[in-house]
Amino acid sequence: MDTPTPTRATGPSHATETYEGGCFCGAVRLAVSGQPAAMGYCHCESCRTWSAAPVNAFTLWKPEALRVTRGADNIGAFHKTSKSHRKWCKTCGGHLFTEHPQWGLVDVYAAVIPQFPFRAGVHVNYQETRLRMQDGLPKLRDLPAEMGGSGAAMAE
Ligand SMILES: [Zn+2]
Ligand SMILES: [Zn+2]
Repeated sequence: MDTPTPTRATGPSHATETYEGGCFCGAVRLAVSGQPAAMGYCHCESCRTWSAAPVNAFTLWKPEALRVTRGADNIGAFHKTSKSHRKWCKTCGGHLFTEHPQWGLVDVYAAVIPQFPFRAGVHVNYQETRLRMQDGLPKLRDLPAEMGGSGAAMAE
C-alpha cells in the first residue's frame, strides 16, 4: 500500500481533508477526516496526570472520522472511569486518543496529528488549571452544559 501524503487545509472549510498522524515511534498510524466537533485545551487533573503535561490540546471527532491505518493491534487501553477510554502505543507508550462513549466522540490529541490546523475554541476544566493561558478564549470552569458541565465561565 502506498503511504498517503498528509494534505493541508488551505481555506476555512475543507470537509473531506484527511490528516495523518501517529505515535512517538511510528508503530501506530492514524488518520482523521473532515472537521472536528470541537477543539481546545483541557486543564483537568486526569489529562495532566495521564499525559504528564500541564494541559491537553484536544480535537473531538465523531468516531467514524478516525481510522487507525497501522498497528491497530499495538494499541493499549485503560479506563479509570467509563467516560474516558485512553489509548496509547504499546511499543513507545505514546498517547494516541481517548474515546468518550457517553458523548459519542473521540479526542485525537492535537499533538499526534501535526498537519491538522489546530485552532482552540475554548478552555475546559479551567478551575483545575496549573498553567493559566491568557489568550482571550473562553475559560469554562468545568465543561459546556451540553456535555454535562455547568457551562460557567471564569476569569483567565
Ligand atoms: Zn509507538
Ligand atoms: Zn481533561
